[in-house]
Amino acid sequence: MIARWLIPALLASILITGCSVSASPTPQSEPTQVSLPLVESAGSAAQAATEPSTLQESSPTEVSTPQIPATQAPTAAIPCTSPVNLTPPLTEGPYFMSGSPERTSLLEADTPGTRLTLTGTVLTVDCQPVANALLEFWQADANGVYDNSGYTLRGHQFTNEAGQYYLETVIPGIYTGRTEHIHVKVQAPGGPVLTTQLFFPDVAENQADRIFDPSLVLPLVPVGDGQAAEHNFIIALQ
Ligand code: FE
Repeated sequence: MIARWLIPALLASILITGCSVSASPTPQSEPTQVSLPLVESAGSAAQAATEPSTLQESSPTEVSTPQIPATQAPTAAIPCTSPVNLTPPLTEGPYFMSGSPERTSLLEADTPGTRLTLTGTVLTVDCQPVANALLEFWQADANGVYDNSGYTLRGHQFTNEAGQYYLETVIPGIYTGRTEHIHVKVQAPGGPVLTTQLFFPDVAENQADRIFDPSLVLPLVPVGDGQAAEHNFIIALQ
């Protein structure tokens, strides 16, 4: 038997015990707040995961095509009036090395020199763009020195479906006996290889260089702290 006077005391005790238990949910509610950023980051990851597939869908035919994003592709093509002359061939020189990496930028974090962005289109003599054409670039660095033990300032790439290419590099330096120049090979799929060189305007050494060809001088335009130029290559398909 419980004395009647004890009942209020027991009820008070139960209420106090209940309050002490109900105090514990306060820290349990925190994970709910912490989980919100996780939901956002999961959404960001899902969005990022969809971006590569979007790029692949826009250019599914060639592995090399995504190398030239639409934002980097040249926007103003050089006029081409058919028939146009083939790009003149020039000597390969002694410093070509096969096996260069496929890339559209030859720049590394510590590459010295004036930045050069080179764009253009590979065309036939009928002004038709050559898709998937191979371009191989190699050059001296800003001090006129070639990397003959590695692939610094060497690389190859393929034109996109519109025959366009895009190259980031630096303006090469001068070495003994030569003016500033960039070597390049251009080849349509299954076609002959064009080996030639590109030159730069207003270089005093141009006139004394026996390989120099004024038709291959790049029309430099200042862009930011560097230079840009557009140049089309006209090649034979066979
Ligand atoms: Fe050279």
